[in-house]
Amino acid sequence: MASKKTAPPKTAPKAPARKPVARKPAAKTPAGKAAVSKAAETSARKAIIRISLEMSRSQLSPGRSGNVSCRWKSGMLITPTGIAYDQLKPADIVYVDHDGTTPARSKKPSSEWRFHLAAYLARPDMAAVVHTHSLHATVLACAHKPIPAFHYMIAVAGGTDIPLIPYAPFGTVKLAEYVAEGLSDRNALLMANHGQIAIAKDLDSALELAHEVEVLAQQYVNVLNLGKPKILGKKAMTDVLERFASYGQNAQPPTKS
Ligand SMILES: [Zn+2]
Repeated sequence: MASKKTAPPKTAPKAPARKPVARKPAAKTPAGKAAVSKAAETSARKAIIRISLEMSRSQLSPGRSGNVSCRWKSGMLITPTGIAYDQLKPADIVYVDHDGTTPARSKKPSSEWRFHLAAYLARPDMAAVVHTHSLHATVLACAHKPIPAFHYMIAVAGGTDIPLIPYAPFGTVKLAEYVAEGLSDRNALLMANHGQIAIAKDLDSALELAHEVEVLAQQYVNVLNLGKPKILGKKAMTDVLERFASYGQNAQPPTKS
């Protein structure tokens, strides 16, 4: 008996090819956590190099002057001393712990590491420091002239002026103390006979603030050349500072409760 011809089996529809899923390190295991932490640290080191190069390209740090750091673990990551920015590799960035110690075999940190560390201790709310000898900020710092409220944008530094801290030799504990004291109520300072320092929540913002300080310094030098500047009063600056503080919230329509 002829068997009923059966239709050839249809090929089962192919399941859509699965995209290969990138394997994430198992962060819950100690080895996984270490891998995640290592990747984050490499990324922070690269960010410091990027900001250093941007600082250099924007003429904010003549020669090899200036240094950059970000908060890391219980200390900070900072540019090393004596290596040109365009030669920097992630491994060259130095970890300095809160007590000033560095890991064995690491490069030597910038000679100005003490005041970077002091800045983080003084301002737990901030996570990045840019220090430069930018031209006009340094001109004013050498003339011992803080920047008053000649322009409302002075509020970017968090107050009614950009103060000048006293001179102390670079690398000293005394200079670190002056920086810590000055940054207690400002995000940027002029450093007598030296340069400027800017602190922010991240590296890009710290560089932007250092740039803003330099622009204000240049404008102020020009205003001084014309004569006595007209300084904004306390009331006007209080208003500006309030506007700056609420700028983020004002971007959203107010909600009624
Ligand atoms: Zn310096």
